[in-house]
Amino acid sequence: MPTIGVLALQGSVREHVRMLQEAGASAIAVRRPAELDAVDGLVIPGGESTTMWKLADTFDLLDPLRMRIKEGMPAYGSCAGMIMLADRIEDGVDGQQTIGGIDMVVRRNAFGRQVDSFEADLDFAGEPVHAIFIRAPWVESVGADVEVLGIAEPGDRIVAVRQGPLLATSFHPELTGDTRVHRYFVDMLREL
Ligand code: GLN
Repeated sequence: MPTIGVLALQGSVREHVRMLQEAGASAIAVRRPAELDAVDGLVIPGGESTTMWKLADTFDLLDPLRMRIKEGMPAYGSCAGMIMLADRIEDGVDGQQTIGGIDMVVRRNAFGRQVDSFEADLDFAGEPVHAIFIRAPWVESVGADVEVLGIAEPGDRIVAVRQGPLLATSFHPELTGDTRVHRYFVDMLREL
């Protein structure tokens, strides 16, 4: 059984831990570099990417996170977590840094300028999911190696992507009872 960490600096940590357990993984909170060393994969939750970046820096996690991602650790970022996994962002605050790993441009608070939050039914990797968006980013553009896994109807925006061992969604599957996205991530870990 893979052990998956949930980056526990800020955001919807408990909900992801519960969904990962339901999806058949063992899940632990990650706050320190030693905890990061102990996991096979990592979920980066929703929350606020500017705060998460600053806390990761303060807790000396930013470089270890970048290192593990570079070495191929599977990771799944939801909402603010998607922003953290983006190689490039738009509408970040001054100097905002990410962990990076996915060759994409993500626009922060993109849907938020139109509607703060909304729900939509969409296809995720060919399966129907009910997606909850909260001040959500969208993916503005992707590189050639990035697979688009989901599109949301308002504006036909890219909201789910995968590049090798890295997965990201603009929405929050941990807030629904549906473990499909978490199961997809756990299956990814088993295949890799
Ligand atoms: N708007 C937030 C950010 O920029 C993301 C919102 C969320 O994770 N629900 O980080």
